[in-house]
Amino acid sequence: MALYSAAAAVLSGLERGEGGLKSLVYGSGFPHARQLYALVAETLRYGPVLDALLDGAALLRVEKKLPPPLAKVLVYDLLFGKGLKCGGRWKALVRRHRARLQAELARLKVRRGVSRDEDLLQPAPGAGPPATQVPRYVRVNVLKTCVDDVVEFFKRQGYSFLGKAGRWTDFHDNRLYTSGHIILQDKASCLPAFLLSPAAGSHVIDACAAPGNKTSHLAAILKNKGHIFAFDLDTKRLATMNTMLMRAGITSCKLAQQDFLTVDPHDPKYSKVKYILLDPSCSGSGMVARLPLEEAAPSAERLQALAGFQRKVLSHALRFPAVQRLAYSTCSVHREENEDVVHAVLREQGSAFRLVSAFPSWPCRGLATFPGAECCLRASPVDTLTQGFFVAILERCGEEAALPSSLPAGTEENLQQEEGMEPGAAPPKKKRRKKQRVKA
Ligand code: SAM
Repeated sequence: MALYSAAAAVLSGLERGEGGLKSLVYGSGFPHARQLYALVAETLRYGPVLDALLDGAALLRVEKKLPPPLAKVLVYDLLFGKGLKCGGRWKALVRRHRARLQAELARLKVRRGVSRDEDLLQPAPGAGPPATQVPRYVRVNVLKTCVDDVVEFFKRQGYSFLGKAGRWTDFHDNRLYTSGHIILQDKASCLPAFLLSPAAGSHVIDACAAPGNKTSHLAAILKNKGHIFAFDLDTKRLATMNTMLMRAGITSCKLAQQDFLTVDPHDPKYSKVKYILLDPSCSGSGMVARLPLEEAAPSAERLQALAGFQRKVLSHALRFPAVQRLAYSTCSVHREENEDVVHAVLREQGSAFRLVSAFPSWPCRGLATFPGAECCLRASPVDTLTQGFFVAILERCGEEAALPSSLPAGTEENLQQEEGMEPGAAPPKKKRRKKQRVKA
């Protein structure tokens, strides 16, 4: 019973907005956090279906003492899960309604014209792809391995391309991940470093860097040569980043816990910084919720505050005297944090910087809110099967000749979908392991 009570308590906490799924699960004190997480997550996934069943079977009207969150968890497990393994008196109570609930389920499938339980999770016609259909991507860490070896490794583990992943396949425990051979990173989030495209050996700033996915991508593009100055305010995120960079074998990066706005652009240390990647804090409104209740629309005040910070930090980044190219990105869908920020800062800069067309063949462009906004790119679950994302590439005017004109080839190949992989073998051979020297 403890499992069902704990799951019901997490559901109630989510409904009251007391925290996210992970924090409520891990804060619950329940000893088997993974089991609890999976049960709540699945109950949430089936949320609308469970509502329809509870309503159709009038369960809550008949069993007035049964709390609704507990009813959902129990009915989920009875019909779609493990079949009520525990549950004491509540189990007996819900089991009494099993026939009625099963009949409701059958009726619901007929009404929706589907035969499998999973098909009930499909969105209404006309809606975009559900979050669960946005593939999860992995980036291959080319400092340690190559795409072909990673594909071979997964094949040996029994995965196949284009199949469906198991519901709760979690790559955090996969040896390729724990050994730094792959990085779990959405395809759209790989665009900023790819488009910044710093030449091997150059000096680069990652202004808001933690937890470091883009920093590690930059290091791979730099072939671990040159120098990355990475800043972040958040100690915990920096600690995670340090672990991740060490695991990925990155030696070309220096981390600093510092407000980027206080970094002196005229410090001689940064005199050779030609490239800046700026991925500041944002509303995160482009992050597709993989589970219901994860998203909350930002208020107008919050958007304004974020946009103010983003403008400030972008202006600051452009004050570095040697900077020639800058990638600005957010995982927000709001123009206030995207096109509006870029437009305001470009206007403030006069003729010093311009937008360059980012990845012209990318299908989804910046919103036409100012002339040239189509140089920016956007990404979305519907258009690009990725998280919602925005990237703008700014270049100092008159410096084109000093920069590489073409984009690195083959990056698309490095973005392998996690989807379609099933677990089992040893990671591909390491290329080379250098002494790790990452400072926090
Ligand atoms: N680029 C990171 C990646 O790919 O893993 C994600 C960065 S996240 C969107 C934004 C980061 O900016 C947060 O880690 C936050 O702590 C940091 N941040 C916020 N304000 C900052 C500031 N003034 N100076 C430096 N970092 C800041």
